[in-house]
Amino acid sequence: MNTGILETRTKLENRRLDDQAYANWVDWKWQIAHRIRDISTIEKILNIRFDDDERKRIQETIDIFPMSITPYYLSLVDPEDYRNDPIFKQAFPDRRELHVTKHDMTDPLAEDKNSPAPGITHRYPDRVLFCVSNVCAMYCRHCTRKRRVGDVDCVPDQDQLERGLDYIRKTPVIRDVLLSGGDPFLLSDKKIKWLLDELNKIEHIEVIRIGTRTPVVLSYRITAELVELLKSSEKPIWINTHFNHPQEMTSSAKRALKMLASAGIPLGNQSVLLADVNDCPRIMKRLVHKLVINRVRPYYLYQCDLSEGLEHFRTSVGKGIEIMESLRGHTSGFCVPTYVIDAPGGGGKIPVAPNYLISWSTNKVILRNYEGVITTYQEPDCYRHNACDLKCDTCNLHLKLDEAEEKSVVGISRLLADYDNTITLTPAEDEMIDPVSPKNKFDHPDESNV
Ligand SMILES: *Cc1c(COP(=O)(O)O)cnc(C)c1O
Repeated sequence: MNTGILETRTKLENRRLDDQAYANWVDWKWQIAHRIRDISTIEKILNIRFDDDERKRIQETIDIFPMSITPYYLSLVDPEDYRNDPIFKQAFPDRRELHVTKHDMTDPLAEDKNSPAPGITHRYPDRVLFCVSNVCAMYCRHCTRKRRVGDVDCVPDQDQLERGLDYIRKTPVIRDVLLSGGDPFLLSDKKIKWLLDELNKIEHIEVIRIGTRTPVVLSYRITAELVELLKSSEKPIWINTHFNHPQEMTSSAKRALKMLASAGIPLGNQSVLLADVNDCPRIMKRLVHKLVINRVRPYYLYQCDLSEGLEHFRTSVGKGIEIMESLRGHTSGFCVPTYVIDAPGGGGKIPVAPNYLISWSTNKVILRNYEGVITTYQEPDCYRHNACDLKCDTCNLHLKLDEAEEKSVVGISRLLADYDNTITLTPAEDEMIDPVSPKNKFDHPDESNV
């Protein structure tokens, strides 16, 4: 069946597809069933030929990191110039994936380590990542969870999902659940409905987020039934998708986005900065423009993680800053994503940006804008701030007390607070502070006060 794909694609382009073939093509289950997983089929479809040596190396790569490409996504590749094609590079194995550098890590974000229940990563105070599917329509070559790709043993079963939900139920600080995977939209409608129903029943959950690449690699997954189901969730659903290149914004992708946006679902996009794919200010500007035209707000631009086999995709951080510099001010503010580095070891996402604050005195701030104009902002002479004692009911700024539940403050906010005497935050095991007994950890920042 796979060999019919090129034909289908050609006919699709020339609008010569008969009704049945068209019905197949736009059926997401047909697309899944006909995913391309071997080299010969790619050769046939793109009408290309790898030499024996290259074919052997590609096969070695596939044996470690499997390949899976939807016919739809492969149909976006330009066979005339496939080696430089941004779609091909994201989908087709490269033997450089087998090159492991000494900085590579199998689980750079410590997602497995920070996991209190199956599939759950609880790193931030008020929200969790919940991997509910281990399956993806297309295996992105730059996947940060490459260690688990195609790992059939890991597909979460009902019991594991229940245990994840149980953790969320009994952890009232969680107000935001981010469903990820794999791709949650590769679950059946029935399973998605069940998960959403269960989450809707949990009182402390305020927002449900879904991370999915289906609008990019399997846009036909966004069916009227799926949209209806999402729409019926009582709690707000926010969707983040993953476009990396303007060429991915096809008419069927646009259709999928329009259906989701028209159902009132806010859409965001998380791109990964990839060498030789989108590490170019002009490509990125084109991408963010195409996103907002389709009602998708660029959310994050990720520096490529330190996962194994991704070195050839990594750029310098400087390239990311250069791209951010080319966006801010040069185009609409809501086109500009936040550029983040997900800290190795599980430190979470850290925003990185060009510096706009050049200097500061007691009453003046020196700034520069995107054009390089250097300017001053005169601070008020008479500003008296309200010292905060966390007693919101007697404060002249009106915050209703029931909304001011947050009692303890962590991180830099703690150093800035009036009501807290902490003067330093000391990383646990800081040998500079206590070189004699490095085991003497400061688990609580208060202790560093003494
Ligand atoms: C990215 C991520 C989140 C969500 O982060 P936001 O900045 O709120 O989008 C939550 N938990 C984990 C473990 C994450 O990696």
